[in-house]
Amino acid sequence: MRLRGTETLRLSEVGSSLVEKLDKAKLRQQLTPLQYDVCINKGTERPFTGEYWDNHEPGVYLCAVCGKELFASGTKFESGTGWPSFWAPVVKENVTEKEDRSLFMRRTEVECANCGSHLGHVFDDGPRPTGLRYCINSASLRFRRG
Ligand code: FE
Repeated sequence: MRLRGTETLRLSEVGSSLVEKLDKAKLRQQLTPLQYDVCINKGTERPFTGEYWDNHEPGVYLCAVCGKELFASGTKFESGTGWPSFWAPVVKENVTEKEDRSLFMRRTEVECANCGSHLGHVFDDGPRPTGLRYCINSASLRFRRG
């Protein structure tokens, strides 16, 4: 699909992620090598190494690629995994969930709904009230205090 002029890109229409459409050379400049590996190549940062797994400040976590608001400190919890963990996104519409059958596992991948950047995975062993555990890479996030 080719975009013309001011045409709006709707992920549901395209069927592939927006990061695939973005200029990869530009992203290489914008992101750190680790961020690029996680966000674009769907990698995973090593546990207990990221910037936010132990962050307890109040604020909002934005997409590192496009700035969309994804998670809030109020839903962050101690999962013991070494990755920032949340029991819900700020609003459900801001993330996309996809089946991921890589690495001989069946998991649910979580992407930024706005740009398609890879964020992490969601599991159903989280705390109340949702019972969900969004296991998110720090490298996919940018924290805004307040
Ligand atoms: Fe994004």
